[in-house]
Amino acid sequence: MFRKSWRPLAAVASALTVALVSGAASAYPEKPVTIVVPFAAGGPTDVVARTLAQAMAPHLKGTVVVENTAGAGGTVGARRVAQASGDGYTLLFHHIGMATAPALYRKLDFKPQEDLIPIGAVVDVPMTLISKPAMGPANLKDLLTYVRANKEKINLANAGIGSASHLCGLLLQSALKTELTTVPFQGTGPAMTALLGGQVDLLCDQTTNTTGQIKGGRVKAYAVTSKGKLANFPDLPPMASEIPGFEVGIWHVLYAPKGTPANVVAVLEKALQAAIKEPAFASKMKELGAEIMPAERQTSAGAKALLAAETSKWSPIIQAAKVYAD
Ligand code: ASP
Repeated sequence: MFRKSWRPLAAVASALTVALVSGAASAYPEKPVTIVVPFAAGGPTDVVARTLAQAMAPHLKGTVVVENTAGAGGTVGARRVAQASGDGYTLLFHHIGMATAPALYRKLDFKPQEDLIPIGAVVDVPMTLISKPAMGPANLKDLLTYVRANKEKINLANAGIGSASHLCGLLLQSALKTELTTVPFQGTGPAMTALLGGQVDLLCDQTTNTTGQIKGGRVKAYAVTSKGKLANFPDLPPMASEIPGFEVGIWHVLYAPKGTPANVVAVLEKALQAAIKEPAFASKMKELGAEIMPAERQTSAGAKALLAAETSKWSPIIQAAKVYAD
């Protein structure tokens, strides 16, 4: 009697085990997902990451938290994720710095294109050249003349070598054939605080950090780094109006460490695409002047191609500028 009923029961039990195991793989995420931002909290990369995390969470049916691991122009946080386990629970939200770091850092101990899997590109953000409130020059032309004539008096804040603000500052100094004193911060959130307090003079930063301060009249704004004028700042000239070819957009990508299973990458890719479509995400990005990436870039393959193309674009420019960090 006992033997008769035991066999079918064992079959049911083993079928159940199979179902539970395959269910576990499709049940990702089973615990909170952490997005690492490689700059200080309260800055432009952080604000986009936090808005994205909030918009992705319901599509992942889970919790998404943001952690800031700042330092060395974003390379400390990027390395943390490059060396994390590829289980889908530690992700990186980073910008153009992923394409510039390999040329800027002689001893970079991770390879952006090999150690990380792009999930999708999210936004492209123009920068603005701004100054402390008490800066004298009235417009971009006058500012550039003033900087050329007073280079020993002026300092330029940035978020460390490899940051977007560093890259923009490099372009400015090389166009003016001038070397300015640079003051590195853990992110442009704290750099902005120093600028508002008049401790530093100039900062080139994403509109995702500068829009509120410019509109509130708390800083002076001189230019945008987009090709043409921006809808949010119709009075600001493009940098290219004075320095031909000065054009830079700060694209942002979500990454997972290498080794992350393809099915997990696919779940994240879908959640990212759905999050970008959320009205709350889209309207916040519009308000901050961030442009949503085209659909083909919101994919793992599209973001991978973007990282490769931008690395090839910036490496020779940086090598020609002969700027290195160890
Ligand atoms: N905008 C910064 C940069 O210069 C980084 C940040 O604080 O988000 O790269």
